[in-house]
Amino acid sequence: MYSAKNTQKNAELQYIKGVGPRRRKAFEESGISTIEDLVYYLPRAYIDRKHIDSISALHKTHLSYQSSRLEWASAITVKPQATIVARVQNITIKKFSNNRSVLLITVQDNECATAELLFWNAIDYHAKRFQKGDWLLISGKPDRNRYGKVQFHHPEIEKIDPEDSDLFHQGQILPIYPIPQKLARAGITSKLLRGIIGAVLERYCRDVIDPLPQDILHRHNFLPLQEALHQIHFPSSQDMLLKALQRLKFDEMLFFQLILALRQKGLKNYAKAIPLQKNSPRARAMLESLPFRLTNAQRKVLREILHDLKSGSPMNRLLQGDVGSGKTIVATLAIVYTVDNDFQAVIMAPTEILAEQHYHTISELVQPFNINVVQLVGGQKNTLRQKILEQIESGEADIIVGTHALFQETVRYHRLGLIVIDEQHRFGVLQRAALREKAIESFNSNEYSPHILVMSATPIPRTLAMTLYGDLDVSIIDELPKNRKPIITRIVFESELPHLYQFIREEIQKGYQAYIVYPLVEQSEKIQLKSATEHYEYLQKAVFPDLHLALLHGQMPWYEKEEIMKAFKAGRFQILVATTVIEVGIDVPQATIMVIENAERFGLSQLHQLRGRVGRGSAQSYCFLVTKDRYRTVLKYRRMTEHSAGDPTVIRLQTMEETTDGFKIAEIDLQLRGPGDLLGIRQSGIPEFRFVDLTKDSEIIALARKEAFTIAQTDPHLRRPQHQRLRSELSRRFSQEIHLLEIA
Ligand code: ADP
Ligand code: MG
Repeated sequence: MYSAKNTQKNAELQYIKGVGPRRRKAFEESGISTIEDLVYYLPRAYIDRKHIDSISALHKTHLSYQSSRLEWASAITVKPQATIVARVQNITIKKFSNNRSVLLITVQDNECATAELLFWNAIDYHAKRFQKGDWLLISGKPDRNRYGKVQFHHPEIEKIDPEDSDLFHQGQILPIYPIPQKLARAGITSKLLRGIIGAVLERYCRDVIDPLPQDILHRHNFLPLQEALHQIHFPSSQDMLLKALQRLKFDEMLFFQLILALRQKGLKNYAKAIPLQKNSPRARAMLESLPFRLTNAQRKVLREILHDLKSGSPMNRLLQGDVGSGKTIVATLAIVYTVDNDFQAVIMAPTEILAEQHYHTISELVQPFNINVVQLVGGQKNTLRQKILEQIESGEADIIVGTHALFQETVRYHRLGLIVIDEQHRFGVLQRAALREKAIESFNSNEYSPHILVMSATPIPRTLAMTLYGDLDVSIIDELPKNRKPIITRIVFESELPHLYQFIREEIQKGYQAYIVYPLVEQSEKIQLKSATEHYEYLQKAVFPDLHLALLHGQMPWYEKEEIMKAFKAGRFQILVATTVIEVGIDVPQATIMVIENAERFGLSQLHQLRGRVGRGSAQSYCFLVTKDRYRTVLKYRRMTEHSAGDPTVIRLQTMEETTDGFKIAEIDLQLRGPGDLLGIRQSGIPEFRFVDLTKDSEIIALARKEAFTIAQTDPHLRRPQHQRLRSELSRRFSQEIHLLEIA
């Protein structure tokens, strides 16, 4: 599994009873090349044979699971299902007049009761899987048709050997392994695999060394590793299965967090930063000249940042706060403080429009104080660019605002003390590192590192923040400025659009502006552009002929987009029709209406981000989620139900109506989509966890993190005897990282 490759163990694989060269090859092609890989090949589900239902019992209980509730545990969740054992009686394909067809498998259990298994997809494949007379273990959510017949739609099925008397008579929990095509073709069944793993497990566990220090093991009452591995394959009870999972999740997260902790500790110990301890009269003056008071949350965060800047250790801090919470002003104060300490500062934004906006905001804020702000983006004229580069290198430029252009080769900084990165999730760790390198060069001394502040307006659930940004300290602005009225969010059905347009008209008459966002459709960009264009034309001609509208879309060159955004900000037109390109962070206080068409097509975080484009001023703002009338009934009935179940579309829309809390929304989004999707985390260097579920395991993640950071604190080189095994396991799992950390 992990990076360890042990050729000797490799060879062993083929001498295990039941394996041989052909199957060994199939295993290898499926990513299982060592005994350890086998041991960590996890069941996808378990059958609790104490709880096999009879079909007639499913009848009697009217399919409410109360009396025959069966806990079906997948490796990660435990969810109620029904399981029956029955024999195939008949296999037919039914065709309907509308060209659809269904595969219908009738099965009969040993009490002669029958049930139907229905497959609507992959009909040919499923039809070939089974034959009359096969005994099947069938698992799924039972249903009844209108004649009262028990049905399963697309159930999980395992073919079983009727001779395997175990299966029926022992009250044991059996693992079911995933069997990919390659294994299946080599004749490897779940049952066979069960035997193989059972055999190697014993041997493996005899030799394996438990890496956890005794005190952690005892303090949290964890199962010893050997036992956990055994229980994960052959649990003696549901409880033991959960305990085994706990232990393995903890290990997995502990080692990952340990890497982060040691890295952070290393940064603090080995890299110094020049302590910025001079008073900053200009930062003070700026603070006093603001037309508002900082919120308590802003104050707290500013204190945390200044503390870092003064400390003499490089700051590595993530500043999280919802859109409009006032991160920019906090960052600017830190920047001015840095400048007053005779260092340069950069602020990097993911797009030109945003860089431009920061440039203006910051220029305006520091304008009275004789501070030189320059902007460095792509596409600037050569002469201008040259001039800016010179100012940066000579130190004449105090603050540099820009995009990716900031870490291009030609850029040389002059004592770059503070790096601010806005919308961190659009940049990778590598870009962070590239800027840091540039800063280090600018000191003419390898001894010092710059301070880094990354900002994110995409609230990240705690569990994710702890892993994704695990090597950063985290500051949170969890309070919006008091002058804000919460945005009113409403779901609007398409048939109600005329009313909505009327409402928009009235608001525009009061001097406000509106965004109408048109979704990204999963078709070619051309078609998408066409539909947005058509929609824009329709709105302009048929709905708002007397108003000025503009269209913004993804295929415009950046300068055109920028022109349009500027014109919108200046109030030269009232309605901006856009595909989703309205950039995060764009600030148009007069825009108070956000209409999102086909809102059901957007992800939750995306909806929240879009909503954040309004509510930037003191006027009441609105967000309208336009969706199909067919969702009307579902929504009506689901309105009062919990978020844990139901159609994700409905949950998303409902959540938006119910809350504006970005962190809450992020949690729900994470549960709906899983972490991989959120923020494009796949590119961000988080490993795929085998046991840990980032969406659910916040407790164990927090625990592992706490233990890891304690260890790194007390024994940063893992030299203590009780940490010996930890250390060798760590370098086995993360050989590369360890090399970088120089602790091996
Ligand atoms: P963020 O970058 O977090 O999305 P901004 O820093 O752009 O938020 O702030 C949004 C708007 O709120 C700006 O116009 C800013 O001037 C204003 N603002 C910031 N802090 C406060 C405050 N404490 N009180 C009132 N308005 C504020
Ligand atoms: Mg911002």
